[in-house]
Amino acid sequence: MHTQPSGAGPSAALVDDLFRRKLRRTGLRMAILAILEQAGTHLSVSELGRLAIAVQPTINTSTVYRNVAAMRDSGVLHSIDYAGETLFGLARTPHHHLVCDQCGTLVEIPAEQFASVAAGLASSCGFALSPAGQVLHGRCQGCAGAL
Ligand SMILES: [Zn+2]
Ligand SMILES: [Zn+2]
Repeated sequence: MHTQPSGAGPSAALVDDLFRRKLRRTGLRMAILAILEQAGTHLSVSELGRLAIAVQPTINTSTVYRNVAAMRDSGVLHSIDYAGETLFGLARTPHHHLVCDQCGTLVEIPAEQFASVAAGLASSCGFALSPAGQVLHGRCQGCAGAL
């Protein structure tokens, strides 16, 4: 585990994602990946824009929006609905999201923890659960304990 200083590039694996999805490695896309990697969570496009412009003052918000959308559409990023906002995260590691309705905490869980649920739904209802990106609502450990 290492943390990168602000303005550092994204890890090689993420840069490789851009190659594999046939996206050009522009400075802005690299900055967006680095910001999300460093944040270790999901961010709104306005927050992404604010942080990206801090690193690259020559870009504007609409450019950030366009690039975030392109990166989501190509599968490098993914988006979730969270408290009325759209948040963007890295899609590299398939995961689902646990959202605490009380305090708003968002926790990522590896998609494989859901494999048995997905298999059950497939056999009982023929429903093919999306392999990643589910948002599950409930109460986090702290909030459930406080009740
Ligand atoms: Zn996510
Ligand atoms: Zn909570």
